Amino acid sequence: MRRDLAVRAALERRLITPDHPVAALLDLDGVREAATALHSAFAEVTAPGQRVLHTFAVKAASLVPVLRLLDGFGIGCEVASPGELALARAAGLAADRIVLDSPAKTEAELREALALGIALNADSAQELARLDALIADEPTSAPPLGLRINPQLGGGTIDAMSTATPTAKFGVGLRDPGAREWVVRAFIDRPWLTRLHCHVGSQGMALERMAAGVRALYELAEEINAAAGTRRVDTLDIGGGLPVDFASDESAPAFAEYARLLRATVPGLFDGRYGLVTEFGRALLAKSGLVLARVEYTKTTGGRPIAITHAGAQVAVRTVFAPASWPLRVAAYDATGAPKRGPAVRQDVAGPCCFAGDLVARDRALPALEPGDLVALLDTGAYYVTTPFGYNALPRPGIYGYHAEEATPTTFTTLRRPQTLSELVQEYGGDC
Ligand SMILES: *Cc1c(COP(=O)(O)O)cnc(C)c1O
Repeated sequence: MRRDLAVRAALERRLITPDHPVAALLDLDGVREAATALHSAFAEVTAPGQRVLHTFAVKAASLVPVLRLLDGFGIGCEVASPGELALARAAGLAADRIVLDSPAKTEAELREALALGIALNADSAQELARLDALIADEPTSAPPLGLRINPQLGGGTIDAMSTATPTAKFGVGLRDPGAREWVVRAFIDRPWLTRLHCHVGSQGMALERMAAGVRALYELAEEINAAAGTRRVDTLDIGGGLPVDFASDESAPAFAEYARLLRATVPGLFDGRYGLVTEFGRALLAKSGLVLARVEYTKTTGGRPIAITHAGAQVAVRTVFAPASWPLRVAAYDATGAPKRGPAVRQDVAGPCCFAGDLVARDRALPALEPGDLVALLDTGAYYVTTPFGYNALPRPGIYGYHAEEATPTTFTTLRRPQTLSELVQEYGGDC
């Protein structure tokens, strides 16, 4: 397996050492395979010549080299903050390959997006009113502008990830009294409003519900265009969302499965009349990443074996604070980087942070871990090491991309240098 080759090579190349006891690895071939799978899934269902812009939700892995790599694979950026926009621009993305979403865009952000020609989706009536004022000056040069709606179809199994509940904070609630009529009117009154957007969720969300959200979006577009007597809505931004299987090495559900379900649920989406934008995040990256950490000590307390490692809440915040929703597989390696053998022992895998709940796995059956061994938190290419928790002033670990093949040496490329202690001191006000 490529990741076993990479773990061993990371040790040999001293990317992980007693002084740098945690690092993250990203399988760049895995990312390319995911990008290819996304392109072919939609190529299979779209009409010849239909415009499709796939974007990557930058929050899932906010690393400039990763955004550049994905751009090279034909995948743009969905950004949701000035910082994410700066990362996309630093990666060299053209303005027409970036989409700006966020429920809290400041007036300055809106101005900047308009000036740069970056498509954006307004999240609320108030944001639309701000755009009215900004666009009154220069109506013809505006980039594509859309409105995010919440189809209010209900949630999934993880509340915090459910963006289409009746009271979710995103978009205009389409089922609220008078909302549908208001949205139709908003488009009729604004010739520059040409896109509709929704993002129903992903982790913990049934594909059928996501597809139902896209159908609601499509039906609304048809209604607006009929009422406007023209093709006012020309592009549907169907958002992201594809859950990741954290329990096996499968990339399931596959992009192809979702694309076919969309075609079955919303055939009109694929007859070529609408351009499409997608915003997948975790499904492009999660399976390709791992966090690798040294076991520093082991102990047994109250009869429970515990391995104290260097990967905890600082790199796995969701797993530590909401373990039932975000369980991770842990792979054990010995000090030479070989997969660890031996009888399974139920043990806790703990992190370095100073609070008792800092565990990435509880009572998990693994070969008995020893100091100097390594643990790998699997499927952590999205929303883990790039979404850190600044507890205990732990430095941000290095992140390395790799190419691994059986017969040739594994090669690494640095995606983010490990943070030095002096950089850390700056981050924590050392220059104030
Ligand atoms: C987070 C987000 C996505 C991507 O979500 P994933 O679950 O990572 O695929 C897409 N669109 C919007 C608006 C988002 O907020």
